[in-house]
Amino acid sequence: MLLIFSIITPSLATAAEKTDQEKLYETRMDLYQKTEAITHIPWYYLAAIDQYERNLRYSRKDLPKPDGAIGIYFSPEIWSGAVNPNKEDTDPFTIHSFAGFGLDGNGDGKAKRLDDEDVLYTMAHFIETYGTSHDDIKIALWDYYQRDKTVGIILGHMQVFKKFGTVALDKHAFPVPLRSNHSYKNTWGDRRGWGGRRTHEGTDIFASYGVPVRSTSYGIVEIKGWNKFGGWRVGIRDLNNTYHYYAHLNGFAKDLQVGQIVEPGMIIGSVGSSGYGPPGTAGKFPPHLHYGMYKDNGYTEWSFDPYPHLRSWERQERARR
Ligand SMILES: [Zn+2]
Repeated sequence: MLLIFSIITPSLATAAEKTDQEKLYETRMDLYQKTEAITHIPWYYLAAIDQYERNLRYSRKDLPKPDGAIGIYFSPEIWSGAVNPNKEDTDPFTIHSFAGFGLDGNGDGKAKRLDDEDVLYTMAHFIETYGTSHDDIKIALWDYYQRDKTVGIILGHMQVFKKFGTVALDKHAFPVPLRSNHSYKNTWGDRRGWGGRRTHEGTDIFASYGVPVRSTSYGIVEIKGWNKFGGWRVGIRDLNNTYHYYAHLNGFAKDLQVGQIVEPGMIIGSVGSSGYGPPGTAGKFPPHLHYGMYKDNGYTEWSFDPYPHLRSWERQERARR
């Protein structure tokens, strides 16, 4: 009894201080676990699909922005059935007869396209028809999305959620230790000081050789190696499907591997001046970390300005101390 009490008390104490974002994470987790109990699709797969589709809706103009807790999107045609004359049909029987996807997940007798439980159950049920093993789920995802990169990104998200056992993973870190001697300013879109005429797609953080470079987010190492311009560099994809690019490194953290799961603050390498030549070329410019951020919308990838994010992560990290 004492033990139970001591476990419950801290959560009661903090309940009043929970932010809307924290409550939303809890709501989502409840929905994932409830759906796992019915369909046997592990919650972290559902969370990963949901996360992928939510990101897509925020980055694409042809999709409505998510308004519920769940981000998975079914168009009226897919939900109700392509030849169903009633595009807003909520009757599971007629939807089924028109080969629509929509199902009733919460047992209220209706299959509502914008109901979180119905939407999540519909997706989970589709996957369940392939089976519940990792390979079964992978095949289901491929049949559904028909794009290798999408399946890869979803399975990456899945591994991160599974490892940390939560979907509340929005913490960030500044890429070099706050106490290190470093400087950076907003150089977005400037002409490069070296290396040709391309505009500068990132922020340069000047620091000494060997200063640790750390992951700014939760994510997965997607690329590690040499690039003619970037030198020794690492690419990490986070849960918002943002790709973080760390270039001109002096070297990599020991044991860092492609496919590895990282968390904010984890050391991935150190500051250097590599790049602009064949592998090993260094010293053509002062040591600095080139930090870039790229967004993907399922078709194409584009860079955006990391500077405001760096400022905000620096502030957040300072506040945590
Ligand atoms: Zn740069």
